[in-house]
Amino acid sequence: MADHLEGGCACGALRYRLLSPPMFVHCCHCRDCQRQTGSAFVINALIEADRVSVLSGDAESTAAPTESGRPHKIYRCPYCKIAVWSVYGGVDKLRFVRVGTLDDPAALTPDVHIYVRSKLPWVTLPEGVPAFEAYYDSKKLWPAASLERRRAIFG
Ligand SMILES: [Zn+2]
Ligand SMILES: [Zn+2]
Repeated sequence: MADHLEGGCACGALRYRLLSPPMFVHCCHCRDCQRQTGSAFVINALIEADRVSVLSGDAESTAAPTESGRPHKIYRCPYCKIAVWSVYGGVDKLRFVRVGTLDDPAALTPDVHIYVRSKLPWVTLPEGVPAFEAYYDSKKLWPAASLERRRAIFG
């Protein structure tokens, strides 16, 4: 995988570069993600905020309601309003970058499928990729190097 993936919004005003590969990649089939994307699921690359270099533009955030009540801020291009990443639970040091906004969205594949209890029935999950009815225990699934990076965020 390329080390410096780049992506951006639809109008081109907001551009970013990932300074390293993400820690982990979620494919989330929850109802919130379905509603927010208008699609079957969202693909999120979990990466430290300081490893997302903004090349141009200034993302604006909106608070999104969640079923869990946990805060969720969605960051969008101020012009075309395309969502590029999210921050959950007020953890600003951790970004959930929307893989579909990468110039090459095929560069990252999901490491886990979550909230498959609301997966659309026609979506077939790939064999060999862990899938969970709801959330999962990252300590059991993430590679050691990613857990190390996670610890640096959460202390
Ligand atoms: Zn834009
Ligand atoms: Zn979700």
